[in-house]
Amino acid sequence: MALYLDTPLQFVKGVGPRLSEILGKKGLRQVGDLMEFYPRTYEDRRAARSISSLQPGDVVSLTAKVLKVSSYNLGRSRRKIYDVLIADDAGRIHCKYFRVPYKGYFERFSHGTEVRVIGKVILYRGKLEFHHPDIHEVRKDEVVEDELLPIYPETEGLSSTKLRKIISKAMVDLKSNSSIDLQAMDPLPQRIRDREKLPNRFEALKFIHQPPKEAGRSFIEGKSDYHRRIIFEEFFWLELFLAAKRMGLKRDKAPAMKKLLEKVDKLKASLPFELTGAQKNCFAEILEDISKPHPMHRMVQGDVGSGKTLVALMSCLVAIENGYQAAVMVPTEILAEQHFKNSNELFKSMGIRIELLTGSMKASEKNKILEELVRGDIDLIVGTHSLIQDQVEFKNLALVVIDEQHRFGVEQRHKLKQKGISPHLLLMTATPIPRTLAMTVYGDLDVSIINERPKGRQPILTRVTYESRRPKVFDFVEKQLAKGRQAYVVYPLVEESEKIELKNAMEEHRILCERFTDYRVGLLHGKMKAHEKDEVMGQFRAGDFDILVSTTVIEVGVDVPNANIMVIEHAERFGLSQLHQLRGRVGRGSHRSYCVLVLGKAVSKESAERCRIMEQSEDGFKISEADLEIRGPGEFMGARQSGLPGFKMANLVRDFDILKQARKVAFEILQSDPQLKRPENRAIREELLKTQGNKALAFIG
Ligand code: ADP
Ligand code: MG
Repeated sequence: MALYLDTPLQFVKGVGPRLSEILGKKGLRQVGDLMEFYPRTYEDRRAARSISSLQPGDVVSLTAKVLKVSSYNLGRSRRKIYDVLIADDAGRIHCKYFRVPYKGYFERFSHGTEVRVIGKVILYRGKLEFHHPDIHEVRKDEVVEDELLPIYPETEGLSSTKLRKIISKAMVDLKSNSSIDLQAMDPLPQRIRDREKLPNRFEALKFIHQPPKEAGRSFIEGKSDYHRRIIFEEFFWLELFLAAKRMGLKRDKAPAMKKLLEKVDKLKASLPFELTGAQKNCFAEILEDISKPHPMHRMVQGDVGSGKTLVALMSCLVAIENGYQAAVMVPTEILAEQHFKNSNELFKSMGIRIELLTGSMKASEKNKILEELVRGDIDLIVGTHSLIQDQVEFKNLALVVIDEQHRFGVEQRHKLKQKGISPHLLLMTATPIPRTLAMTVYGDLDVSIINERPKGRQPILTRVTYESRRPKVFDFVEKQLAKGRQAYVVYPLVEESEKIELKNAMEEHRILCERFTDYRVGLLHGKMKAHEKDEVMGQFRAGDFDILVSTTVIEVGVDVPNANIMVIEHAERFGLSQLHQLRGRVGRGSHRSYCVLVLGKAVSKESAERCRIMEQSEDGFKISEADLEIRGPGEFMGARQSGLPGFKMANLVRDFDILKQARKVAFEILQSDPQLKRPENRAIREELLKTQGNKALAFIG
């Protein structure tokens, strides 16, 4: 039977109902899906691999002779490591096994036995070795495939070999189907392919699944033109969609605003400091945006303590002076409370009505506020998630500020936005976003960057240390307290977990109370009620506590300038961006500030190294790039709210250059033809609607 890209897989030779069910579970339903099921890596079976040519990361198969089999215990434990040393003409390498299939297994390999070893080359303590390679005696009748074999992700009942067979079968059948022209049938238009020097899609797929014999290292690492072709396309449709979204939003109607600055000027005059240059620029960008007839979609990225709140509140003032309402949504009650107080302070005697809306308020209080919001009696509302509930309605909401936006899901952001007729949207984040993510997940937004800290701020001295040195750390803390400063001590968890022995904030609170008898030690943790947290936080801010023991609930936005020491226990448990956020709680006043990262007992060398990045940099952008590289996009973003597009081959960290290029091309096309109406763009339009569905239609019309 002739195959097409949309032929269901059960019609491929060798795929029965059972196999097609297994494939279906992997999301593979049609021949086209199978073509896009890419090898995880390649196994290099080309004959001439000698031990001396091996590189870390290579997956190879080679023949060699056994020199020696030995075993020894791992440290003081009873676990044994088996070590088979093999050699060929030019080199030798150790094959290590931490598990043994059965007793006497390795005794089979005596000195001089010729073996075939298949596995991944690992760099361990400066030396190359194999860990758990497949090893067997070379049989006389063994047929050695002299090629580069694609290795597919396996599942139960579906081996890589089987997949390889099905895929090559399908590929042959596709090619022999004379009624489809695989060369012509490429979703990427010829003109883009030519300009970007990208091979045809089918050609790329063919080589990826059936690598050419002469393929080099870059091919194996996924860096060939064939790979680039596939990756480019994955990015291209996404970027085209983001470009369409951006242009589309620019066509919506936004509340009309003039650049009324009376209130802003009044506010500025009342401040004890000058705005930083970066704050001024950012506000100017916002002002430009909101005086246009289309809604602003801007994200302000600024490191912790760079003064984003002020810029947001100034923007609110402009909306209010224009006779509209503004809303500020924040992720925690503590922060809502803080912004509420802050804005009351800043806006006093301006005749502005500000209210707070949080989940822990009494129903009667809430209802009163809801009524006043609809009537338009409230000018500025500050709140938590409560703001996005259905009962919340506004009279004329014109500006929505979402602070610490990374704490909110895409859905939640969207919901608040719906409360006005396309209000202007200002997102604030203190987690600087690596450029790759800024171009994908947030690719439809305009970005302002506040990269200047207010004058007079001193650098934060950061040190990584170990648990055994904790007494010294606390002596140091005590010296600072004696000077009148305050300290944070942060723990990763509230409740003791039986499995992982982590410090329990409550237990530590008790210990610290004993250690610091002359000082007052407060406790803040996630299991407390919102009003309890607020109370403790308020007391710390007022100086009623000298030390605040806390879990990560303080992570976001809290501002206590007199606090100048941050001790973070089990620092290895946190992501770098999170450590950076926590550290940003200090260094807010004029005092020299310190951050001590205390590592737990059984910390790996890698974790320790990772934490040391914090010693070297205070630049949130650098730290977030490093964090992304180490943890990968999924974990970096947090699964819940990631909004991360799923790529089949592209890797956001590795393929940044391709991403940039795909974005450039996509935006150029959309800029010159926002609705993709021109004949030469018709195919692109169709493919966009196919890959992104009706979402895209809403923007290109
Ligand atoms: P973040 O960007 O982390 O939200 P905040 O807006 O909380 O930072 O600002 C941190 C502190 O810096 C606040 O106490 C604020 O009043 C102060 N601040 C803001 N702008 C300036 C400035 N230009 N000069 C001095 N201090 C400033
Ligand atoms: Mg803030």
